[in-house]
Amino acid sequence: MNYNQLISLLQPLYDSRESQAIVRTVLEEQFGMTLTDIVCGKVNELSSESERTLGEIMRRLQAGEPVQYVLGRARFRGQEWTVRPGVLIPRPETEALVDMVVAAVGDRRGLRVLDAGTGSGCIAISVALERPACEVSAWDIAPEALLTAKENAQRMEASVNVVRQDALTATAEGRQWDVIVSNPPYVTCRERVDMARNVADHEPALALFVPDDDPLCFYRAISRYAAESLTAGGQLFFELNPLYAADTARLMRRDGFSEVAIVKDCYGKDRFARGTWDCKKQ
Ligand code: GLN
Repeated sequence: MNYNQLISLLQPLYDSRESQAIVRTVLEEQFGMTLTDIVCGKVNELSSESERTLGEIMRRLQAGEPVQYVLGRARFRGQEWTVRPGVLIPRPETEALVDMVVAAVGDRRGLRVLDAGTGSGCIAISVALERPACEVSAWDIAPEALLTAKENAQRMEASVNVVRQDALTATAEGRQWDVIVSNPPYVTCRERVDMARNVADHEPALALFVPDDDPLCFYRAISRYAAESLTAGGQLFFELNPLYAADTARLMRRDGFSEVAIVKDCYGKDRFARGTWDCKKQ
């Protein structure tokens, strides 16, 4: 099967640009082909074993599985991350959340940073790699996430303490943090119908969806936990659903955060909130 035939197999699911990008990713990452190789027709010269592997990959892609799950890896912050079904695929916009945390930490040493709901570990591990003088912890509840975050941390030689903890039920118990960051589930079930099938049908519901009647359940729990456990001047960072940006900011102010601000993502949408824990207000 040639390059154009591979692309046409995906056309019922994706537009032509995306189909082409997915096939190129497969050929480059799985079979080490360069663009020149592809253009020169190397696809037709695969060994019979590689052809079988390619056939299996195409079958999974045709069933709508995201290419990152099929290949078992995704790119984030210029690095390769292990991902698997059960773990949210890192999104490009989340890199800005890492930027905010990295900037907030600056060159201070020994700061304790918590990533609540870490998934693949992409936020926690990026912070640990870019600010190695921090003590970074990462929580999740899903077994696949705990396994994947540990695997990624080990492979990238990042020092991150991965812990099984439900963000909805956490209590401070004397623990203190200087920075808390979270990209919790924030897509309402109502919005699910508008999502791409490869996301809605294949990515973990546990990491994506929240009830229509309580879309801020994670933000409420994490903001309260942060108010109990952040040091004076500590900071809280959220990725959020643009539909609930103002509500999230209100909730954080109500919990006693000051300097609360909404920050836009690279697509111009309200996507993040930040706030400073001002213990004097309590
Ligand atoms: N940004 C993701 C999406 O739209 C959702 C991530 C999340 O729920 N935290 O698919």
